Amino acid sequence: MVGRTLILGGTGEARALAVALVTAGMDTVSSLAGRVRDPQLPVGGLRVGGFGGVPGLAAYLVVEQITTVVDATHPFAVGISANAVEACAVVGIPLLRLARPGWSELPGAGRWHWVDDHRQAALTAGSLGSRIFLTTGRQTLDVFAAVLADQEVLVRVVDPPEFELPGGWTVLRDRGPYSVSAETELLRDHRVEVLVTKDSGGSYTAAKLTAAADLGIPVVVVRRPTHPTVDVTQVSTASAAADWVLTLPEH
Ligand code: NAP
Repeated sequence: MVGRTLILGGTGEARALAVALVTAGMDTVSSLAGRVRDPQLPVGGLRVGGFGGVPGLAAYLVVEQITTVVDATHPFAVGISANAVEACAVVGIPLLRLARPGWSELPGAGRWHWVDDHRQAALTAGSLGSRIFLTTGRQTLDVFAAVLADQEVLVRVVDPPEFELPGGWTVLRDRGPYSVSAETELLRDHRVEVLVTKDSGGSYTAAKLTAAADLGIPVVVVRRPTHPTVDVTQVSTASAAADWVLTLPEH
């Protein structure tokens, strides 16, 4: 396959795919939204920032002579994925979805409190205990703050929150991967009573689930949203995505 691959990124799988394709001699451009201050950068070409919706993305694909797109964005980043489906259809180029499996098959997942959205997660967490560990990211903190303002909450985020958090909340800035022993110590030190996460999947941030299970701490999990790429060819690993790109017919 010759051509140029756009990798919609912001995930470890996207970076691993860039390594695989660049190593195979492919021309790649990885795209980041630009939300994280100090992102982990992929190998190969890079662009940062929104495209300007479907028209902007479609124009980018044409101008940059992109021949294939791999949507390797986070399972909860549905806006960019929907745009990728439309823009690739408009331009007439192949799209692959690279998505890591969720955590629903992990041992113990049947005992977690599964909810459909972040507000439901906040309400459920509040009913289960009073020292809550929030690991759902920065973008939905306002939803939790509206429900849990009076609770003791430990928030773990990569970048600082964009608004002032309620008085009883503590911010911990960190980035995975995490180990089970460190997560166990953290849960113990902060006397956490409830863990809240979303079904991000992957191994980078999964240690907290084992640590919570070991300590008997209840876990609230936000289900993945219905993904706009349901009709798109899907793979779950970077190496499978690289194989798919490398075996596409030339065009
Ligand atoms: P989103 O809601 O799906 O996207 C909102 C807008 O941000 C898109 O319409 C697009 O703007 C821009 N955008 C998003 N991803 C982009 C990318 N890779 N390259 C260029 N523009 C992008 O996305 P989100 O949930 O805010 O996530 C943003 C990025 O962070 C994603 O790349 C995702 O992989 C990563 N991430 C997200 C989460 C999460 O929980 N949501 C967690 C970890 C990492 P235009 O319409 O202007 O093109």
